[in-house]
Amino acid sequence: MSPGARGEGQRKTAAAQRGGAAPRGTTKGRNDGARPMTEEEILATVCGYFCDQGLTAVEIARRMKQDHGVSISREKPYQYLRKAASRGWIRFVPPQEHSLERLVKNAHPFLHDATVVSSARTEDVAYHGAKMLLELLQRHYRDGVAHIGFSGGTSLRMLARRFAELLREPVPDLPAKIVFHALVAGFDVNDPTTDPNAFFTYFVGDPGMPFETEFVALHSPAMVEAADETRLRNLPAIKDAYGCASKIEIIVTSTSCWTDDHSMLRHYMKVAGESVDELEQAGCLGDILWQPIGADGPFELNSRIRAMTILRLCELSKLIEKEKKHVLLVAGPCDKCHKSKAKVVKAILDQADHLITHLVTDSRCARQVLSDSQAGEAGRR
Ligand SMILES: [Zn+2]
Repeated sequence: MSPGARGEGQRKTAAAQRGGAAPRGTTKGRNDGARPMTEEEILATVCGYFCDQGLTAVEIARRMKQDHGVSISREKPYQYLRKAASRGWIRFVPPQEHSLERLVKNAHPFLHDATVVSSARTEDVAYHGAKMLLELLQRHYRDGVAHIGFSGGTSLRMLARRFAELLREPVPDLPAKIVFHALVAGFDVNDPTTDPNAFFTYFVGDPGMPFETEFVALHSPAMVEAADETRLRNLPAIKDAYGCASKIEIIVTSTSCWTDDHSMLRHYMKVAGESVDELEQAGCLGDILWQPIGADGPFELNSRIRAMTILRLCELSKLIEKEKKHVLLVAGPCDKCHKSKAKVVKAILDQADHLITHLVTDSRCARQVLSDSQAGEAGRR
């Protein structure tokens, strides 16, 4: 605080001297010939004091008076901050744990990149997933057309929304066109927003998008009887979606733990009246692209029903090795119970035939994966 600012702050405002109320949208300002601050200007100034200087509400109220001659109560700064956050003016950037990232990359050198987010929120991991997707595009797909395939689920819906938000800022080195593919059909009849076809609404018809967009939807049931799969795949619209599969260059997927009550695969099996015993006996640890995976890798369901997915899990390693595709796994905590997905993430990372190239996860998950790996190694010695 400069002495001059304090001196100015001691002046009575013109409005206060007149005893009149400030006009709507303004407040009592200094009588220095300047127009009174608008509410937007006050909002922004309060945010600056909070975010840049970490001032408390009392200190902000004092600075508003001293620096700008604006009288606000000590409760007001929190109301302003809430308002600014609801307008998207205040963004939380979840921090990364770089030391854990180095440990994960050292333990799994096949990974092209890994981000470990120091947070227990699914949304924060999804934000960093969106950032990694953007960096992937800039690094490898800046020319021509890029094809991105999205799996479904809440965390990928968050990622798609954050990705669309990141694209509203000026971003260099992007492809001229992106084709978004749905890799699976929506699973959750109670929440259609987790269907990857629904993610397209974040990108469709938006003149602010810095590239041309095109969409390949998958309009099929999420799970079908094994006997019906071939017939359905030959239906015209579904056949087109499968026909374009080879063009997909970046696969964006999440995962869920089999033991988590919110596993959509477990939920669907129960709803469909299918026994989950077979999966349990086979050592299912979780799923990717709605397909089960255990410690020994992906396995096919022998049960009556199966997922309609554009890509089979057992094909991923070949796509990575031979066709140099990228697979980004975004594995934050469960968005409902907030449990870490360490068990299934470890199984995915431990596969000799690599299923992913990029990983974004939370710090609790990374720590658990590393400590389980160390315990496993110690047990083998
Ligand atoms: Zn859960």
